[in-house]
Amino acid sequence: MTGMLLGVDVGGTTTAAGVVTTDGEVLIEERAPTQRAGTAGRTIVELIESLRRSADQEGFAIKGIGVGVPGVVDATAGRVGDEAPHVPDLAGQPLAAILGQRFGLPVFVDNDVNALALAELLFGLGRGAHSLVVLAPGTGFGSGIVLGGRLVRGAHSFGGEFGHAPVKFDGPSCWCGGRGCLAVYASGRGIAQAARERAATARGAGLLRLVGGDPLAITAPLVFQAAQAGDPIATEVVDEACRALGAMIGVIVNGLNPEVIVITGGVAAAYAPLEKKVLAAAAEHAFNRALAQTRVRIVPGDKRVTMRGAAALVLYEMEGRRP
Ligand SMILES: [Zn+2]
Repeated sequence: MTGMLLGVDVGGTTTAAGVVTTDGEVLIEERAPTQRAGTAGRTIVELIESLRRSADQEGFAIKGIGVGVPGVVDATAGRVGDEAPHVPDLAGQPLAAILGQRFGLPVFVDNDVNALALAELLFGLGRGAHSLVVLAPGTGFGSGIVLGGRLVRGAHSFGGEFGHAPVKFDGPSCWCGGRGCLAVYASGRGIAQAARERAATARGAGLLRLVGGDPLAITAPLVFQAAQAGDPIATEVVDEACRALGAMIGVIVNGLNPEVIVITGGVAAAYAPLEKKVLAAAAEHAFNRALAQTRVRIVPGDKRVTMRGAAALVLYEMEGRRP
């Protein structure tokens, strides 16, 4: 068996890399803390070296390397954007050129959720479709758009940032500099922040008790759990998250009318039991006939899928693989 792909998913905390078949099957994988080797760049190199050795032993030839990086990436130049808050030491780095020189292989670099969108398109829930949107609530909120079988990166690599599109024009300030962004309401960071602020009010006593009085110990998973247990503040924050997500589905359905919308990422598992609520919120905004024909799926995030995404990027760029 030859002609394998090497997919690397660079995260703020963990970096995962795998040897992936052209059908998206992960055969060998390795993970490491992103800063294990001192910098993200060195950790990526170490992981690729190690996987290449394993691949050699198995007799697999690697034909290309794909790398998914959080934040804005100039995929054409293979260069990480000047601001890379999750992996600051990669900011501005021509990662594709650096790795290409080091390993003598074609290397493709893109935003991690763009890569994820390609994984869903070529190997996953979007198989057979030509248009899909991935919404990925995690600590932040990424997204990726495929239309007509092509990734929509935008004219200057900023495309596909639905997480920082407003769902409420006079809403609270967002860390991106905007206001009322989807991420403020529906990302892990936004949910935790909203709950912390409200826990400081008289109604927040119950939520504060759950964390021993330390508001900083309030996390998004805890807010979802507390909401399930009926805590009023947590319920309010989770309801707003579902409504914000529903409003953005409305924007996507009415604005792009894709065949598939996949909601995945670190916080997606918490949304899965709330699917009805999210879809009911979407129905308040979307053209109902369009929404009825859109496949909306909420699936828990998984590092393996993002590794597949980076591998899908190689197929997409090198072979022009399309649906
Ligand atoms: Zn924002």
